[in-house]
Amino acid sequence: MFSFNHPVEIKFGEGIFTRLNEFVEEYDYERIVVAASGSQVGNGVVNLIESLLGDKVRQVVTGIEANPTLGNVESIVSAMYEHDAHAVIAAGGGSVMDASKAAAAAYMQGIGIGALFGHKDFSEALPVIAIPSTSGSASEVTPSSVISDKENELKVPLSGPGLYPKLAIVDPELTFTCPPHVTAVSGIDVICHALDCLGSSKNNPISDALAIRAAKLAFENLSTAFDEPENREARKNMSLASVLAGMAFSQTGTTASHAMSYYLTSHFDVPHGEACAFSLDEWFVINAKANPELHHHARDIGFEDADHLSVRFNDLKRKVGLRITLDELGIDRNHIENIAEESLKQANMKNNTAQLDKTEIVQLLERK
Ligand SMILES: [Zn+2]
Repeated sequence: MFSFNHPVEIKFGEGIFTRLNEFVEEYDYERIVVAASGSQVGNGVVNLIESLLGDKVRQVVTGIEANPTLGNVESIVSAMYEHDAHAVIAAGGGSVMDASKAAAAAYMQGIGIGALFGHKDFSEALPVIAIPSTSGSASEVTPSSVISDKENELKVPLSGPGLYPKLAIVDPELTFTCPPHVTAVSGIDVICHALDCLGSSKNNPISDALAIRAAKLAFENLSTAFDEPENREARKNMSLASVLAGMAFSQTGTTASHAMSYYLTSHFDVPHGEACAFSLDEWFVINAKANPELHHHARDIGFEDADHLSVRFNDLKRKVGLRITLDELGIDRNHIENIAEESLKQANMKNNTAQLDKTEIVQLLERK
């Protein structure tokens, strides 16, 4: 037996963003707070939201950091209280959507910002309308949010059904202005989400189908989206791949490549997607040894087997300018033991098909 529950309404299509007013009217939201990244203010998207929704927009909150902080969440919550908000629109990348989702839950459940990290039951939230400007995080279709506490150097994942947005408006045209390096690190994350799902002990036939389609689309379109930012077909396919991978990992969670990424991001500032991609080539082959079904999935994605997929994955990383060795990342080999130890502590490592011990993980890292 397996179950699959995905409560987000998804509107997908080129140019649909200009129909925002029509979508909002379906829900009767009259007082709306908008949270937006600086890039969405700069490129005119926020102005367009204000002109489409008129006085329904009561406040625009900006200045959300790349790793959204408790302070960012608090500024959105304050705006919700001040305007007795009916909904929040999150326009931007994963950081804006994550901060808005956490704020929506904190507001609706009356959770003080200081108590947010200790809170476990995220079952309710103010409705979130997510409008992604990148293809990668998939926060628009997942029940999770990662928030940072700068003072204590903490990055805390929050999760619960209340953190699913109400509505995701996915307009590939909004990704045209995404710079090539952001396209590369977020796009490679799509493949990490898809392949992490296939290597999850919680996978099911629906998550597998979504993940295989997502991985195939991303393998076929990422380098074109990187080389030609306004290539409509490539951007549309990357947006679709991101949504499909997000729907898949909303059910299974992520696994080893993500578990190994956190230390690289928090200690060496490696961008999230690049940090996950760093070890994914190894994990996919290791998982295929534990579950030979992954060789079939690799064929469905377009490769001969898991080993071939792994080699081509590294070729793709090179092509879009990502680093693939410890030396290239500027990480001294004396950190290998720590990376292995910290990876093993992560909850999503336990979710991985192949369970490696510390010695085996050290060996994996020594091959890098
Ligand atoms: Zn990711």
